Amino acid sequence: MEYFPVFIDLKNQPCLVVGGGEVAQRKVGLLLAAGAKLTIVAPQLTDGLQEQVHNHRATHIARDWQAGDTAGMRLVIAATDNSQVNTAIHAECEAAGILVNVVDHPELCRFIVPSIVDRSPLMIAISSGGQAPVLARHLRARIEAWLPHGYGVLARLAGQFRDQVKARFGDRERERRRFWENALEGAAAEKALAGDERGAAEALAAELEQAQANQLQQGAVYLVGAGPGNPDLLTFRALRLMQKADVVLYDNLVSPAILNLVRRDAKRRYVGKKASDHALPQEEINKLLVKLAQEGKTVLRLKGGDPFIFGRGGEEIDELAQNGIPFEVVPGITSAAGASCYAGIPLTHRDYAQSVTFVTGHRQAGETELDWARLTSPTETLVIYMGIKEAPRICERLIAYGRAADTPAAIIEKATTPEQKTVAGTLATLPALIEQHHVKPPALIIIGNVVKLHEKLDWHGVPVK
Ligand code: SAH
Repeated sequence: MEYFPVFIDLKNQPCLVVGGGEVAQRKVGLLLAAGAKLTIVAPQLTDGLQEQVHNHRATHIARDWQAGDTAGMRLVIAATDNSQVNTAIHAECEAAGILVNVVDHPELCRFIVPSIVDRSPLMIAISSGGQAPVLARHLRARIEAWLPHGYGVLARLAGQFRDQVKARFGDRERERRRFWENALEGAAAEKALAGDERGAAEALAAELEQAQANQLQQGAVYLVGAGPGNPDLLTFRALRLMQKADVVLYDNLVSPAILNLVRRDAKRRYVGKKASDHALPQEEINKLLVKLAQEGKTVLRLKGGDPFIFGRGGEEIDELAQNGIPFEVVPGITSAAGASCYAGIPLTHRDYAQSVTFVTGHRQAGETELDWARLTSPTETLVIYMGIKEAPRICERLIAYGRAADTPAAIIEKATTPEQKTVAGTLATLPALIEQHHVKPPALIIIGNVVKLHEKLDWHGVPVK
């Protein structure tokens, strides 16, 4: 982080702008909007600035800047084109610990002024840290166009109701937050966004009444697929629930980039699991979900890929259903779909494969063998989850049961992430290639003629040969 973002309360605070041109005028406008007690030092002023002075909104000292002018100021903006003056102002402010900005001279700035989208009291500030101001402005324009003006009304309303809501919920913080979450998506919000401030206030008051009536809110569990690792591949629903959770239970397939998108104050709990190291046994996870929901919490169970594909999601909600806990399951992009698209290996193709089968390569003691005889069709794509360790055996069995040894086969590590790595060969050569290229989990094996297309269709990174 190059700069520490803050919003400063400048109401009635002495501030100084040096310069009287167009640039100074823009800064003066912002400072006055923030309620600063403003002095302008400049021999001449634009018409706009003269008007501000005339209306007693700012004090004008009609001369060039002099040493000592910054004394007693909170914040100073220099908008002159005299580099000696700029340097002197900067030095004086630095010596006295006054916040200083010299327009267009980042090296002389203790603070920078961001691009803003103003929906007061809601304010969005954007900065590229001086690296790409045009990009920041571009982003500002997009947000400006996208963000309804009613958001300001909504924020103001929330401010007006803040104390009432606080009084009603006391220290039951979770209920209070849930009230706001619902209210800000409900009728009041819609009215506010449509600009109907009075209607919105009435709706909010009604919602508050009602919230009191059903005070004892129940917890719930959201079983959410987080996709194969790339945060861009989350669903909107997943993101929304991630913003709402009190607690999140996640396993090792959920990347830090995704975890970062969970509500900052939510409790995070790692519950495993890698093939051999189960941080928390499945039965314990099932019980924990029930317990947390019974405490009234909104629980997010975040799982890699899709929760119902080799994710034991079915077992987790079974326990919830038995205990009468409300739950919802949100699909995610399964890693087979992610790996397939990002490695340029279509899972089906009119010329190469009419069907696709997902199997797990991971075998625990007592589990049944794969039905090898059913997996040998040359027109079928086979996707193997959790297959690295067992790859030699899997390839050997498939060949023994009649699948051609020269069937194309690939393994994709960390699919869809910046570290994605693809190694392609055949059923006969894949196990050695896996060793040779040190392929590590999570990785997915794809077997079948569709793998031939990888070389031509791979658009993501350089394939390892
Ligand atoms: N529910 C998950 C699968 C869980 S089983 C899903 O739908 O994807 C764990 C296995 O998924 C891993 O051993 C690996 O085979 C596969 N996997 C998960 N994420 C992956 C990724 N980003 N790249 C490659 N394989 C991945």
